[in-house]
Amino acid sequence: MRLCFECVECGGHYLPPEGMVYPDGPASPVWCSPCQTSKRTAGLQEDPLLARVALAAARAALARRTAEAVEPVAAGRGDVRPSRPPLSRRARSGPGGVRGKLG
Ligand SMILES: [Zn+2]
Repeated sequence: MRLCFECVECGGHYLPPEGMVYPDGPASPVWCSPCQTSKRTAGLQEDPLLARVALAAARAALARRTAEAVEPVAAGRGDVRPSRPPLSRRARSGPGGVRGKLG
């Protein structure tokens, strides 16, 4: 099972390879591959503490997902509320209408 990480840079979720290694180098647990590439290009390294925390969080999330997958998913809980037609606003649409008949 691959770990799912949330990129701290763009907030996107990404799945690095199982071995946490890309063909061109180690995968980061804090940045997705495009962000990692741009960070590396900028000469920045990931925070090792942040990387540890992210790795632990991803492992916990994976364990949780695995546990949830065992339970039957309550899917297809159809929301069968009758749909009400939109309120027609006829008050203003009558020809002539009730135009302030004073006196
Ligand atoms: Zn990213």
